[in-house]
Parts: sequence; structure tokens; C-alpha cells
Amino acid sequence: MKQTDYDVVIIGGGPAGMTAGLYASRAELKTLLVEKMIMGGQVMTTTRVENWPGYPGGIDGPELMVKFQEHCVEFGLETTTGDVEKIEDLGDTKRVVVDGKEILCSVVIIATGVVPKKLELPGERELVGRGVSYCATCDGAFFRNVPIAVIGGGDTAAEEALFLKRFGSKVIMVHRRDQMRATKILQTRILADEKIEMAWDSVVDSLVSDNTGLTGMVLRNLKTNELREVEVAGMFVAVGVDPTTEFVKDLLELDETGYIKSGEDTCTNIPGIYAAGDCRTTILKQISTAVGDGAVAALKAEQHIDSLRQKS
Ligand code: NAP
Repeated sequence: MKQTDYDVVIIGGGPAGMTAGLYASRAELKTLLVEKMIMGGQVMTTTRVENWPGYPGGIDGPELMVKFQEHCVEFGLETTTGDVEKIEDLGDTKRVVVDGKEILCSVVIIATGVVPKKLELPGERELVGRGVSYCATCDGAFFRNVPIAVIGGGDTAAEEALFLKRFGSKVIMVHRRDQMRATKILQTRILADEKIEMAWDSVVDSLVSDNTGLTGMVLRNLKTNELREVEVAGMFVAVGVDPTTEFVKDLLELDETGYIKSGEDTCTNIPGIYAAGDCRTTILKQISTAVGDGAVAALKAEQHIDSLRQKS
């Protein structure tokens, strides 16, 4: 077996990456986790996590992720902040380039998760930080006693609306159909809430702003084609997610929506490279499924390294 810097390099510090790190470190593999921003991934932008077992009543997303991190570090996981630019498959050795610096390893686990989609409306990008946001927990408190809109009908949109109602004078939830995609319990809470108003069958046609920032939006009813202007000071976009896989698009097989093709065994088309959590094709995107993937990926890493050691 060739000399490498690490046995395993994990890319991404969300629940999948941290779990892979915990299991790999506990298996006494020399492991480095590289995170681009802050540890915790998408869960850091979640208010209350109600479906992670063991916490009746729920736990705040950032609090849970701090516990995950403490747990990994307990088993000796090394972490670093950096942007992974490239992964190269050199056969038994993989070359990972982080901020221009080369790291050699035997296994790479990709756990880069997803990022929120944009609406791609004219002015949307320019109004980020001046009314447009993709994260209610990050920016919600800036919108006290003003009307707020949440765009989307999934779990994220529902959770954001329920969180934002504590700040806004009212929350208008804009959904393109007449039925929400969100989990039933969230739907029930939304529909029972007097501070949340639904704009069904509607999309945002355009944004209205002045030199202070967002002041409103024009909604289009998809059934009647009717346009109406609604006054809002904040618009939280929660229309789904895109996988963070651009940096491996020339290396790994991706599905038509950009997710890394891999089965429940987390194996990709390249031996020694595994994909865990939301960045791979999955039927469910949850902390629990990401955690399961992380554990499986670490097991596959251990088996792969054992087979390399037997070869040499
Ligand atoms: P999602 O489930 O894909 O929902 C996206 C929503 O946005 C859908 O209602 C969709 O409408 C709408 N939408 C998509 N493109 C749109 C566009 N261009 N214009 C207007 N509306 C648009 O995304 P998500 O809510 O971010 O959730 C992502 C994943 O994370 C899901 O698997 C979700 O279950 C999971 N998640 C789980 C929890 C939890 O368990 N507590 C919390 C957050 C997220 P249609 O319904 O018509 O397609």
C-alpha cells in the first residue's frame, strides 16, 4: 500500500460526513474531514428538529450539530476548513486538492449535501440581504412586525413559515399547487394558524423594490393567470435544493438532476470513492438517513482499505 497522508478524507461536515468521521475514526482509520463553511450543514439552518429519535419535544438544529461535532472529536476525528477543488482517482490512491494543497488518501467519502434553489427572478440575487433570503433561522429576526412571504410548499417552507410567524406581522405562504408537499403534521399546523395566509396555485411573477430593498411581489395565479401585488418586506425562498456535486461532475456518474449515482451501499462508479447523505440519489432526505449513509460509507472505507492492505 502506498504512503498517503490520510486513510480517509471526508468532504462535507453535515450529519452524513460527521457520522462517517465518527465511525472511521472509531475504526482507527486516520481520517480528515474537510468542511467548506461551518460544521453541521443544512441542519444549522433548521430551527427545531422534531424527528431525530431520542429527543422528545425536539432539539434545535445547531444544538444537535454541536453535539455531533463533540462526539466525532471524542474519537479523534481531525477537521479542517477548506474548499475542495478537485478529486483525482490515481487507482489505489486518491488525490484531493483543497485550496490548492494536495492531500493523498486511500478513500474519499463525499458528503457535500445540497444548497437551496433560487427562483431565478430578475432582481432576486441583488436583493439578497435586502429582503430576499434562503434561511429563516439566519435572517428571520430582521423582519419584525412586517409582512413576510415564504415561497414553496415542502417541509422547509412549512417549517420556515411556522418559525417566521413569531417575527412578522403576518406570513403569506405562496405555493404553486392547491396542496402542500410538506409532512401532514406541518400542514395541519400551517392551516390552523391565523397568522399564516395561503396563496394557493400561485407563483412569484416579479419582485417590487425601492432603494431600501424589497417592498413587495407580484403573484400570478396559475389557474386564472390573474396578477396581484402583495406588500412584503421579506421573502424566504424554500423551493427545494440542488446537490453540491459540480466539483465531481467529470469524475463520478451523476443522475439527470446532478445527484451522485450510488445505491444504499454508498458505492460510486469508482472503487474507493463513496457518496453519503443528501448529495446522492436517495428517496428520503433526513438526518436519520444521512447518518445511516455515513455509517455505511465508513464501513465500506474500512473494507476497501483492508483489501488494499492485503494486496501489498
Ligand atoms: P422539496 O420537498 O423539494 O419542496 C420544494 C417545494 O417548492 C415544493 O412544494 C415545490 O412545489 C416547490 N417548488 C419547487 N420549484 C418551485 C418553483 N420554481 N417555484 C415555486 N415553487 C417551487 O424541498 P424542501 O422543502 O427544501 O425539502 C428538501 C428535502 O429535505 C425533502 O426531502 C424534505 O422532506 C427534507 N426536509 C425534511 C425536513 C424534516 O423532516 N423536518 C425539514 C426540511 C426538509 P411542488 O410541491 O408543486 O413540487
